Amino acid sequence: MKELVIISGKGGTGKTTITASFAALAEDKVLADTDVDAPDLHLILSPDVKHEESFKGGHYAVINQEECIACGECRKLCRFEAISEDYKINPIDCEGCGVCVHFCPVEAIDFPQRVCGKWFISETRFGPMVHAQLDIAQENSGLLATLVRQQAKNLAEDKGLDLIIVDGPPGIGCPVIATVTGASAVMIVTEPSPSGLHDLERVWQLAFKHFGIPCMTCINKFDLNLEMAERIEKFCQQNNIALMGKVPFDPKVTEAVVNGKAIVEYDTSTANIVAQMWEKVYTYLQTL
Ligand code: SF4
Ligand code: SF4
Repeated sequence: MKELVIISGKGGTGKTTITASFAALAEDKVLADTDVDAPDLHLILSPDVKHEESFKGGHYAVINQEECIACGECRKLCRFEAISEDYKINPIDCEGCGVCVHFCPVEAIDFPQRVCGKWFISETRFGPMVHAQLDIAQENSGLLATLVRQQAKNLAEDKGLDLIIVDGPPGIGCPVIATVTGASAVMIVTEPSPSGLHDLERVWQLAFKHFGIPCMTCINKFDLNLEMAERIEKFCQQNNIALMGKVPFDPKVTEAVVNGKAIVEYDTSTANIVAQMWEKVYTYLQTL
């Protein structure tokens, strides 16, 4: 089974637009969105949710007031100052370390798991999809990204599909690491600007230099800055990064997104360019 992860150095590079087009073009695949903090693939794919589950992350402490003997031990030990003078725990300040639970002499502190978000298995017009949404201000995005990947893999195995296309998160943080680790290949979507080149370098360092995952790239809206596009191309040549395509700026792409469509569902020259790029990406995947 091959797993292609599409990522970018920052949001707004057109990563999801490219992913949605690959989703439309690829056959026999499962789709996944591991950008659990700010998922947006569903805006284009309009998933029909078939299965929904809560995602539980860390624990939090709750004092049972009827059992508490007000000895003060928990308040003395809590490094996060989460416990008030009248022995109530602020769930936002509680880091879930469990120290108070362990040392309470009368076992008056419960330690339930925190519900941090939801994950879904859906049907879309391009095939099955696993996606998630982390609740606001919750952590554990790496854990949820890992869960989404695992569920996508299970689904692909169940349905006998041999390709997973993942819309990954931007940047180089924890959810990105959780998304690229062990993937077959990574496609980095960048744009022609100094920050685009810098971000490409950082993401490539993480994916290829650190984790040894084969990397490809695509320059989106390349014609907005031909000089920077050329510098990015040169960087790719110097570092043996396969440049799979250069997509021009096309207002039709925005129109497509607004209408909940992938650009390849439109009859434009950009759609042809993206389709050719997918052919190259697919061929490359078969060599791995
Ligand atoms: S350690 Fe237990 S008994 Fe003591 S104040 Fe805290 S909750 Fe109450
Ligand atoms: S679990 Fe840790 S952070 Fe939370 S209240 Fe207890 S000692 Fe404080």
